[in-house]
Amino acid sequence: MKFLPALAASCLLALPVHSSRSAVSTGTPFYGDPPDATHPWAVHDQNRPQPKRVEPGTFSSAAQPGKPPSDAVVLFDGTAATLDKWEADTKPGEPSTPTKWIVNDGALECVPKSGYVRTKEKFGDCQLHVEWAAPKAVKGDSQGRGNSGVFLLGICEVQVLDNYDNPTYADGFAASVYGINPPLANALRAPGEFQVYDIVFRRPVYHDGQVVDAGYFTVFCNGVLVQDHTPLEGPGGHMKRSVAGPLPETGPLALQDHGNPVRFRNIWYRPLPPRSIEGGTDGALTVAATTTKRHEIASTVRTDAAKLTGTAQLLRFAESLVYENDAATAAKVEAFASGYVTNLKSLSGAALEAKKDEAKTVQRDFQYLVKFGFVPATYAPKIALDQIVKAQGWDEEKK
Ligand code: MG
Repeated sequence: MKFLPALAASCLLALPVHSSRSAVSTGTPFYGDPPDATHPWAVHDQNRPQPKRVEPGTFSSAAQPGKPPSDAVVLFDGTAATLDKWEADTKPGEPSTPTKWIVNDGALECVPKSGYVRTKEKFGDCQLHVEWAAPKAVKGDSQGRGNSGVFLLGICEVQVLDNYDNPTYADGFAASVYGINPPLANALRAPGEFQVYDIVFRRPVYHDGQVVDAGYFTVFCNGVLVQDHTPLEGPGGHMKRSVAGPLPETGPLALQDHGNPVRFRNIWYRPLPPRSIEGGTDGALTVAATTTKRHEIASTVRTDAAKLTGTAQLLRFAESLVYENDAATAAKVEAFASGYVTNLKSLSGAALEAKKDEAKTVQRDFQYLVKFGFVPATYAPKIALDQIVKAQGWDEEKK
């Protein structure tokens, strides 16, 4: 509790000083720590894109499946119509063949000995949602009870098995990455009830034959974390040690026929942004990727600046220097800034006083540029502006 005052103080300090700049603040320029060699964005960067809007879905209950989020690709929604999205899991080169699995009471049900089923659609990195139910009438034991499987890329299996009251080898348990890693917990409901898997799948990324980013499974079973960013050693499999190696970029989602009439419902996925060898997010990147991204951001800011006028234009061009110290832009900013200061010097009395807030804003922004080395400490317009602000006594007023 004794931390609270310090925490409150740091929150206060974090308030934007330019909050008057726009009615809806999406960040403030010349504010947080600037971009660096591996971070293309400033801290709290106003130019960083807003997250896209996704309408959330609803959670499933035992009685009925929930609704997918708005950007999900629905693979099975309980209707016979979505059965068209599936086919028999035939061998490579064989023609597409309808599956013999059936739609029964809103669920896609395995017909034993009919073979695996797979989506016609192929995809790679994703957030996958699958619900499944083992037969209510318990039959068999160990791997023989309610066995199926969810295969990403048609290869990498998250095990489906009725382990509610049914021991088996740990790395073949329900929600195991089969043959590789047991789940962290057994969070299963009773047989006959639907179990919910939420899976984040990242395939491995290879470059010149080397793994530069292992693939991962993160899995929640009925809301309980059961695979925590588990590295993909390889596809996994029965009896044999999995061998790491390049996996296809995309593949179907396949569901296993292991001889049990397991049912599936509410199957959807959301594709995830691809990763490159530089890393696929806008967080920390390699130096080369950061330089490229900073150039891209600077170009956008300069394009935007060109449409502005007056001080807003000056500051927007100056802002672009934070991402890329382009010589032509730097010269333009210095010329603008000199002109700004010259004009300010020509004013007096009420006309100068009317410029107070604007001048203090420009001063703060120049101070930022000096502080982080985007312009030298000897930057003439900044020094001149400091003198004007001081002479007017504006620097002694409360903010
Ligand atoms: Mg299986």
